[in-house]
Amino acid sequence: MQSLKLAHTSLNRRRRTLERSLVAQRERAVEDAKFRARQAQGKLRRFVQINFRKEEVAADLELRRGDCNRCGACCEILFKCPFLKKHADGSSTCGIYEDRPNQCRLFPINKRDIQEVRGTCSYYFIER
Ligand code: SF4
Repeated sequence: MQSLKLAHTSLNRRRRTLERSLVAQRERAVEDAKFRARQAQGKLRRFVQINFRKEEVAADLELRRGDCNRCGACCEILFKCPFLKKHADGSSTCGIYEDRPNQCRLFPINKRDIQEVRGTCSYYFIER
């Protein structure tokens, strides 16, 4: 009887651990989906800004400071760009650097863009 009780307690403990793990997994999946949605929105926003709101882009870029650390994170927003080349030292280069689109050339345009690369961008923005 005692051993049955112990087995039941052990099963309950395992079930609770599994449930917690599933909840954590689901939360990570939701966070990841939200992050990807933000990235998709950002790609679209930058496309519109760069092509139709050039003055706004110029004003935003005046507030940008810092330099590119060549982490390549902006080349992997939503998907990995086929022209991105990763090196053993952790840096990256662009296979079409001289001819890269303006969306790549001007990244990041503002603070919101930096939130799309999980904190690896070395640029920052000052307040107006
Ligand atoms: S994420 Fe920022 S620092 Fe990294 S490659 Fe892009 S512009 Fe440069």
